[in-house]
Amino acid sequence: MALIHCAECGQVISDKAKACQACGAPVTITKYKLPTCPKCGSPDLVAEKTKPSTLVALATGGVNLAAHAGSKNIKHSCKTCGHTWRTN
Ligand SMILES: [Zn+2]
Ligand SMILES: [Zn+2]
Repeated sequence: MALIHCAECGQVISDKAKACQACGAPVTITKYKLPTCPKCGSPDLVAEKTKPSTLVALATGGVNLAAHAGSKNIKHSCKTCGHTWRTN
């Protein structure tokens, strides 16, 4: 069980409650939304941050554009169907 704050009055309430005990506002859980596989819709995913290829950029003498572009890439792989994809 987690405690959240009522969006209306700020009262600390349980995320299991359907409405705020103080003001009666319905509890809308705005916690992080789990990503799902775009192929099969399964939420059973593995996410890993992919490191920018700084070493490659240095080795080739290139400017680190690739490193900057890839700094926030997250690689997801679906445990259900094996589909892999990236998000920025
Ligand atoms: Zn409230
Ligand atoms: Zn899948």
